[in-house]
Amino acid sequence: MIGNALVIGGGVGGMSAALALARRGVEVQLADADPRWRSYGAGISVTGLSLRAFDDLGILDEVREKGFVGSGIRLRAVDGSVIMESPTAPPEAPPVARSGGIMRPVLHEIMSNRVRDAGIRVTLGAEITQLTQDPDGTDVTFPGGRQERFDLVVGADGIFSKTRDALFPHAPKPKFTGQGCWRIVADRPAEVDRAEMWLGGPVKLGFNPVSREKMYAFILEHVPDNPWYEPEEQLPHVAGLLGSYGGYVAAVRASLGEDSLVNYRPLEWVMLPPPWHKGRVVLIGDAVHATTPHMASGAGMAVEDGLVLADELARHDAVGNALAAFTARRFERARMVVENSVRIGEIEMAGGDQRDANAMLGDTMQKLHQAY
Ligand SMILES: Cc1cc2nc3c(=O)[nH]c(=O)nc-3n(C[C@H](O)[C@H](O)[C@H](O)COP(=O)(O)OP(=O)(O)OC[C@H]3O[C@@H](n4cnc5c(N)ncnc54)[C@H](O)[C@@H]3O)c2cc1C
Repeated sequence: MIGNALVIGGGVGGMSAALALARRGVEVQLADADPRWRSYGAGISVTGLSLRAFDDLGILDEVREKGFVGSGIRLRAVDGSVIMESPTAPPEAPPVARSGGIMRPVLHEIMSNRVRDAGIRVTLGAEITQLTQDPDGTDVTFPGGRQERFDLVVGADGIFSKTRDALFPHAPKPKFTGQGCWRIVADRPAEVDRAEMWLGGPVKLGFNPVSREKMYAFILEHVPDNPWYEPEEQLPHVAGLLGSYGGYVAAVRASLGEDSLVNYRPLEWVMLPPPWHKGRVVLIGDAVHATTPHMASGAGMAVEDGLVLADELARHDAVGNALAAFTARRFERARMVVENSVRIGEIEMAGGDQRDANAMLGDTMQKLHQAY
């Protein structure tokens, strides 16, 4: 096993890798470009694979306590009437049979507290630009001039990864899909006790509880021209998108005001072909497989990456063999998530049969529920 490692990027993937490596006795450091190490204020859906990965990382109980873990899904029509409810999981069902949601800053706090508690040195405001490799290690220059040598560097710096650019300058760049995602946070009515999808409206609309009191909405809009929304345009725009819905959506819309959390992201994806490493630097998470949210599995996949990376490093004496084994174990799974998520978005944008999209979602989720 390696002696020390630097993780570049303190998102869910980087923090998972840092915790999993530290648990195996590696002396880990983590560097994040953001001086305040923030996570933006939106909700996130957690599927069964994410919950299983949280369990394996040892944070599931806290996620359950501070977020929301339930099961099943409810489908509603535009007027709010219930079309279908899937059965809920029995109490003895494992985490992978469940689903839930959590606010991103809450998940970030849970994980970053664990990172600090594990004694991992965290350097903030640190965009790492200088990595010099030789066969035995990588010399890293931190902003301010501090120099250190690491047995392994993990690039977990997200979809616009500069580590990826440095390692593989000709790698594919992120691509815009044609859809944008709005997210808002609202008080949770008691009737919303599981994930809900609203069918037949002008946008793809879903709600997911993120705590006892709150839920978040995600709204996927077809925006082929990739528009830019000024901050003052966002609230009226999202209220307009919800205008034709009845039921509790009308109340959510009426409650939107200046203090509401509204977040907009154009959907982009990237899938890096192997190899995902060069020498002793390896890429994980969105840096190599950034997906659209159609399967709500990007964060769970990034957490799995961290766990598998630590596992493969423990199995192999040679770092190169461990990193090749890591990619071999992850590539097909990640490709399936990214390609099928993008495909579902394409079906939606083309006005295709929702049953095709649902079949692809169900089939992929079933495969993802198998061990990683
Ligand atoms: C609109 C939208 C909705 C989504 N919804 C869901 C969902 O419901 N469920 C789900 O599971 N997934 C969802 N995802 C996907 C999920 O957010 C990502 O897959 C996940 O955050 C990837 O984690 P990561 O750690 O690889 O990268 P990130 O979370 O992007 O973290 C990267 C970190 O690296 C830091 N960084 C960046 N550049 C540098 C640098 N040069 N040097 C040092 N640090 C750097 C950043 O500050 C950040 O902390 C969604 C994505 C989008 C776009």
